[in-house]
Amino acid sequence: MNTAHSTDHKTHLRNKNLSCKDRVNYFLSNIEKKKHLNVFLSVYDNEARERAELIDAKIQHGTAGKLAGLVIGLKDVLSYKDHPLQASSKILNGYTCQYTATAVQRLLDEDAIIIGRQNCDEFAMGSSNENSAFGPVLNDIDNTRVAGGSSGGSAVAVMADLCDISIGSDTGGSVRQPAAFCGVIGLKPTYSRISRYGLIAYGSSFDCIGIFSKTIEDNALVLETIAGADEFDSTVSHRVVPKFTEEINSQINRKFRIAYMRDTLESDSLQSEIKNSIYATLDALKASGHEVEPIDFKWNEYVLPTYYILATAEASSNLSRYDGVRYGYRTAKPADLHSLYKKTRSEGFGKEVQRRIMLGTFVLSASYYDAYYNKAQKVRRMIRDAIKKIFESYDFIVLPTTPTTAFKLGEHTKNPVEMYLADLYSVQANVAGVPAISIPCGQDANNLPIGIQLMADDFEEAKLFQLSEIILNLNVN
Ligand code: GLN
Repeated sequence: MNTAHSTDHKTHLRNKNLSCKDRVNYFLSNIEKKKHLNVFLSVYDNEARERAELIDAKIQHGTAGKLAGLVIGLKDVLSYKDHPLQASSKILNGYTCQYTATAVQRLLDEDAIIIGRQNCDEFAMGSSNENSAFGPVLNDIDNTRVAGGSSGGSAVAVMADLCDISIGSDTGGSVRQPAAFCGVIGLKPTYSRISRYGLIAYGSSFDCIGIFSKTIEDNALVLETIAGADEFDSTVSHRVVPKFTEEINSQINRKFRIAYMRDTLESDSLQSEIKNSIYATLDALKASGHEVEPIDFKWNEYVLPTYYILATAEASSNLSRYDGVRYGYRTAKPADLHSLYKKTRSEGFGKEVQRRIMLGTFVLSASYYDAYYNKAQKVRRMIRDAIKKIFESYDFIVLPTTPTTAFKLGEHTKNPVEMYLADLYSVQANVAGVPAISIPCGQDANNLPIGIQLMADDFEEAKLFQLSEIILNLNVN
């Protein structure tokens, strides 16, 4: 049976010939109606309306950009000049952006409309959006359940029809995991595909800007707009960016070679309905002529520890800049400079961020550097090599996006390791640096969405869009 949400993957508000102004008003009224979900930290209502009028005029004159009127929300980690930005943290209270992220600028240049700033886990650290200084985001299907994280607000915004597209960030699954929990599409492109200029840094060797959408077409359109070389990010890839929108259906008759990670599907920790939905999809792919084979990936047990050692190490260094001198929050009446740093950071950062800074500082400390940080770097390389090897024989690796569907608020907040396990299947792609997408794949007995995850080789986002479109059209679940 098909779901209301998956029907949405094929229709589009923009096809209904509404003006940009009408569409902005439509989303603004939804935002108002769904305030209880706690999605937006700021809504740029007047600004969005004014921009919509301007773009409507451009459309009349035939001068509008290719994203004319696309209404977009930004996770609270993306800089947008003269707008507030605080990574859902108290430590950035009162901070206003001094420049615009490259990805955001490219959206604006093509006449997209930015509607607001979205709630997330503090500094993008978390899997449920419960680490936000502004409180959790609620899942729109069941308000007692989490949205996923860290880009929870961004996922719910697309789920609840509060905007067309959300731009999030994915360091260890923060786009794909909430996308799965919310029944929407979430793409993490290849590491370095999109400039990170203007993205608040968490784990710089993992961080990717990612895209939430209802349709593959919108996702492809946004990716082709924001990806590519940028003089402000020396790590960004200079590869030519394909016209992804033209590639989606270009291989419709191609038979792909698809590997699925058997150990993830046979694991006891995987919810049985997720297992069944994914097997049903794999069967349908096989029945339509694709080659579908199991593989065993013996590295799976090392992926999560590798990620949490390296990401926290990088975070401890990246977050050292928030010292009470340069940005946002500063403690009142410090005794001296040292206590200014200490008190500002103790008061400004939430518990999880403090835990990660301490963990990261520990693995980087002189006595433990070799045992943890260096070893994890080596393991990371081996994991990447093993994944690259699989792509010599297969076009895709399929695995669940998450071990369970959206869990209850508070269910895992007492035990950080339990929370980290929510990333069990999403961190592979970040550790290896390859692109991955989560698309809806039915729902469980409580009507909660299930996500299926596809991974492809470096810079093969076009293939991800192609197989995603094929799967969505199979209408299996
Ligand atoms: N949940 C993971 C973490 O807490 C991933 C976060 C992310 O991708 N930003 O680190």
